[in-house]
Amino acid sequence: MVPGVRLVVLGKQGAGKGTQCVRLSHHYVVPHISTGDMLRAARKSGSELGIKVQEVMDRGELVSDDLVMEMVAERLAEPDARARGFILDGCPRTVHQAEVLAALLNPGHLDLAVNLHVPTGLVLKRLASRRVCVDCGATYSVTSPPKVNWTCDVCGGEVVQRADDTEEAIRRRLELYERQTAPLIDWYERRGQLAHVNGVGSPDAVFRRIVRAVEDRRQRGRVR
Ligand code: ADP
Ligand code: ZN
Repeated sequence: MVPGVRLVVLGKQGAGKGTQCVRLSHHYVVPHISTGDMLRAARKSGSELGIKVQEVMDRGELVSDDLVMEMVAERLAEPDARARGFILDGCPRTVHQAEVLAALLNPGHLDLAVNLHVPTGLVLKRLASRRVCVDCGATYSVTSPPKVNWTCDVCGGEVVQRADDTEEAIRRRLELYERQTAPLIDWYERRGQLAHVNGVGSPDAVFRRIVRAVEDRRQRGRVR
């Protein structure tokens, strides 16, 4: 059996994090922990947390570090993540979140932070045409829709445009990415934990690049 992994995936909105993280989680047999998916699930369930974060999310703003890190800490404490690791998608998103995460993971630490790089012009195009399943989160686009009538191929749910994929909210999210999340690239680089991966290309090609980056890192013996 392949060994597990502890991976953080960084990248702009629309860089393809979600798609790659699902594949990586199957490949390494570790849970895909997406803070965006967890927050959307909370909203759907109508929980107190969900109500609290709703407006912030629709504006494209960030949910507070405390709320997010509490949620992530709980998830990382579950047996599957403790035993084999995780693919962390959408978190950390601020330097403070990265510091909290590093403290949570001690002494096991992190194998690698992957920076999935895609030029802004391309992510804008991808986001504008992105459509998602309201039930399972599978992603489609105007150019590769589900087979039948905007009904999810995976679960039959309704496939729609995300409330925060409007031009206004996209601009806000990318602005916040540059200001709050891009500094994380240096943060991980200084710690010798970063790998840059080119996110332009077919999903298969990008996946192979990420796996190669992880394997390179293991071979260089910088992992546990
Ligand atoms: P995207 O990366 O396209 O913005 P996500 O699904 O990762 O999409 O996140 C959707 C929204 O959820 C974000 O705009 C933000 O409001 C909230 N969110 C997700 N992860 C975090 C996080 N780590 N810290 C703060 N807010 C978050
Ligand atoms: Zn679905």
